[in-house]
Amino acid sequence: MSAADPAPWTAATLLQRLAADPHSQLLLDRGRLDGTLRLARGDGWELLAELPSGAVDALQEALAATVGVGWAGRDRPWRASGGGEVAGGWVSVALSFLPGPWGGRLSVRSHGGGGSVAAWEQLALPAAEEAALRRLLQGPPGLLAVVGPSGSGKTTLLWALLRELAGPTVNAVAVADHPCPLPHVTTALARGTAGCEPGELLAALAADPPQVVATTDLADPSAVTAALAMGLQGSRVLANLAAADSVAAIGRLLQREAVPYLLSDLLRGVLASRLVRCVCAACAREVTLRSPAAAARLGLEPRGLTHRAGAGCPACGGSGYRGRRAVYEVVEVSAALAAIIADGARPDLLREQAFAAGNADLTANAAALVLAGVTTPEEAARALGRDHD
Ligand SMILES: [Zn+2]
Repeated sequence: MSAADPAPWTAATLLQRLAADPHSQLLLDRGRLDGTLRLARGDGWELLAELPSGAVDALQEALAATVGVGWAGRDRPWRASGGGEVAGGWVSVALSFLPGPWGGRLSVRSHGGGGSVAAWEQLALPAAEEAALRRLLQGPPGLLAVVGPSGSGKTTLLWALLRELAGPTVNAVAVADHPCPLPHVTTALARGTAGCEPGELLAALAADPPQVVATTDLADPSAVTAALAMGLQGSRVLANLAAADSVAAIGRLLQREAVPYLLSDLLRGVLASRLVRCVCAACAREVTLRSPAAAARLGLEPRGLTHRAGAGCPACGGSGYRGRRAVYEVVEVSAALAAIIADGARPDLLREQAFAAGNADLTANAAALVLAGVTTPEEAARALGRDHD
């Protein structure tokens, strides 16, 4: 298509272009007499079209509408996140508007990865953890927390769990700062053009709770209170929470003013995760243990321990690692654990009771991946971080 021909460019074709290249950026500029549509390419810009000014305005506003973001005006700068369906998938975008004397400029960046939802099998859950999660998803309604530090794949897990609950006959709402890519789920966009915090949106939902709610953020007391209020009214609430592990997550919820007896009554379980780098299959070989400290962190006997590690090859860029795998910990809240939560949640008692049924914690599951040759002691210890306090 020629740069002079604006006709092929519609909100839908622009979105398709952004989806084709994650991390790409479009600029829609309105000048005094005409406008330009440019696409970032390497270190420069490709001119896609020169458009009449009025067409730029219309295209900017149509694009914002297509990705589910209300047009926030031309008299001040604004930012918003949105997303839309394209052939074969979904694309998440960030919009940023800069006002100008003749109408202003809209920048649209596509996010990589954020749009896809991992299939259940891709989660690679160990059998015991998978069975526990199935029980939690099918058991009584209440709160299921999905926890880990940032970069541990919490949002991937949240959407994968939500997909198991959502469907055409289920009233499901996601409260998130980017659109939920699942069908049959309504997104309430936090920190969008309206600037609502997740807690405000959850509180609004609690007045008329849906059957299923998923939120990417339980960062303040109002969000925690609203999540528990919905649980009390019979909603299933899936919530991401930044915490090191299951025990830390319970402490974090209480710090955020969860009423202990309500939390003990409504918290059904916690899924904690970490991502570890996998040993590169192309250059893996058996080595003797190099880091006794890492083995000790994992609870492995260092003496005589051998494990798989990558030597470094072109396939892995010399790092010895290729791809990632999640490490999990699933805690189901038993009557005994609920009693400890109601009684002030002493961390040592919580830890002892959380794993009393013989379920593996993050450390044990990370050690299992080392023994299975999936990752190295050094990498597993790095992903786990500091030892439990
Ligand atoms: Zn390699």
